[in-house]
Amino acid sequence: MTHTPHIAVLGSANMDLVTYVDRAPQRGETVTGREFRTIPGGKGVNQAVSAARAGATVSMIGAVGTDSYGTQIRCALAQSGVDTDLLRTVDAQSGTAHIVVDDKGGNAIVVIPGANGTVDELSAGDEAVIATADALLLQLEIPVDGVLAAARTARAHGVRTILTPAPAQPLPEALLAATDLLLPNEHEVRTLTGISDDPRAAALSLLPHVPEVVVTLGARGSLYAARGAEPVTVPARTTTAVDTTGAGDTFAGALAVALAEGRPMTDALGWASAAAALSVQRPGASASMPYRKEIDARTS
Ligand code: ATP
Repeated sequence: MTHTPHIAVLGSANMDLVTYVDRAPQRGETVTGREFRTIPGGKGVNQAVSAARAGATVSMIGAVGTDSYGTQIRCALAQSGVDTDLLRTVDAQSGTAHIVVDDKGGNAIVVIPGANGTVDELSAGDEAVIATADALLLQLEIPVDGVLAAARTARAHGVRTILTPAPAQPLPEALLAATDLLLPNEHEVRTLTGISDDPRAAALSLLPHVPEVVVTLGARGSLYAARGAEPVTVPARTTTAVDTTGAGDTFAGALAVALAEGRPMTDALGWASAAAALSVQRPGASASMPYRKEIDARTS
């Protein structure tokens, strides 16, 4: 590596409140669960942790509340080496995700955005950090006004913008226009394009709006499409999946690092696939994300 890349991440910070049950309760019913865990998450936090463990200097921009979850989220980021100077503490509850996981691995989730809902504009400090980053990672778990402001700031300074369009929703044309690389999964690309079961056609249909698209396809790998070139499929790494939660965020963080190091896209996709494959071998989202050494060992 010639220089340590600097990645800015603007996005959500949640505490995931995860309840493990044999069977999820029906309406009006009470069941006794097996276990309860609190796990720092949110797509912003997850992508920041992935990029930091993959070897970048990472600045996390977002907001937590004044509660103890906010403190715990900040600590978890710092433990993975993420700079939290631009993670604001606001007079609100931290974002929470209330997750019930049943013994078949199925889940039901309620998200309360809380403090994340306040991230609708940038401070001068946020803009300064984005302007000097090598890449900006974005998702849609904060107000779209904040995402758009950050994408435009990055674009104005020639910083590559990588957008994970999750949760799936139609995107304003202005946001697509400020996006360099769109990174949907199969479900998100279907929502964006209306095209089912044909990621190649879906990706090609997005190219008039964004110059590069990577569709992640779970265990089937990823598909890369760029203007003026034939789409390329990059296979996933063979592994035994234990928990695929956070695979997409691991992939996004590692991909941003590899691209910021100047690697060609197909190499970067291979490296990100290795990172994501390592993460699905272990339980948890951010907890399962690999460090650079492990990714390098997997790809050497
Ligand atoms: P999540 O929402 O769970 O974070 P996602 O739906 O956004 O994930 P996926 O398309 O499922 O993202 O996976 C992202 C990448 O992770 C894939 O492109 C692939 O490289 C890797 N991956 C996912 N599942 C597996 C698996 N079972 N085995 C190996 N690699 C996997």
